[in-house]
Amino acid sequence: MGVVLDGKAIAERIKEKLRQEVTALNSRPTLAILYFGTQASLLFKFAQEREASSLGIDIDPERIVDDVVPVTQGAVERVIQQWNQDPSIHGIFVHQPMPPQIDAQRISALIDPRKDVEGIHPQNSARRFFAKARIGSCTALAVMELIDEALKLSGESLEGKEAVVVGHSEIVGRPVGMLLLDRLATTTVCHIATKNLEKHVKRADVLVVAVGRPRFIKGGWITPGAIVIDVGINVVEGRVVGDVEFEEAKERAAFISPVPGGVGPVTVMMVMKNTVEAFKLQQAI
Ligand code: NAP
Repeated sequence: MGVVLDGKAIAERIKEKLRQEVTALNSRPTLAILYFGTQASLLFKFAQEREASSLGIDIDPERIVDDVVPVTQGAVERVIQQWNQDPSIHGIFVHQPMPPQIDAQRISALIDPRKDVEGIHPQNSARRFFAKARIGSCTALAVMELIDEALKLSGESLEGKEAVVVGHSEIVGRPVGMLLLDRLATTTVCHIATKNLEKHVKRADVLVVAVGRPRFIKGGWITPGAIVIDVGINVVEGRVVGDVEFEEAKERAAFISPVPGGVGPVTVMMVMKNTVEAFKLQQAI
């Protein structure tokens, strides 16, 4: 029976260190959040606001309502440009998914990369790990924190392990793949065209799943002793579940992250960490 990785406890530890860093700063960092008024977005924003206020990070929330009159590309771009130019804003976070009429890639590329605390600007999502910039995809960094917790407990290293990532999105799958490569894991990234997904999953020492389909990865596919990180968030009959068959996978994995309570709380904390990094970067210029 695998150890369940406690995302809340990991997030609390990161928070303690961050609190000391924020206290030592000469002024308070400010995070600007753009959200579109959906239920999921609202819940995530509450979590961001709660953590920010307990750390001494100010929040500048801007809500764009997308119901009666659909929001336009121009309106979203104007908000981003205004925040880019405002020196009192240190971090920018745009909630995903954006409404369908919005060109999300264009918005990601418009955010000043130095203020991109979500790590979605092309410079930060794809190239960060080569350029060694200090800000990266908050979800990918959270995944690595959970993997590192498992490695710390087992006393093992990532080097040479078979890592398999399922999902190749710009904001999760690809940056996770880059980070695993950076640490010399032998990394495979699976996607919609992957033939025989089960075969790939079955040889993973480290498995990261970010697809968005409930119970998509079968428990019986997990290699005994694997580290399993489930990024998926799906609502099924009013309950939040991940992409992995949790109970069955737990029987085989050495370590597994739950949903909820796994990647999610650590991701929120990595946004705060990126905001502090962005603040320092801007102060240094
Ligand atoms: P996304 O942009 O929709 O990407 C999903 C990925 O899964 C795509 O790369 C897609 O490939 C791939 N995929 C779809 N069907 C597949 C299949 N049958 N076999 C293999 N790959 C398949 O979603 P995302 O933003 O990466 O998010 C993924 C999940 O993580 C969602 O549930 C989201 O809510 C959750 N999430 C959680 C956090 C957190 O903090 N916990 C943060 C971000 C996202 P194609 O592009 O080729 O179709």
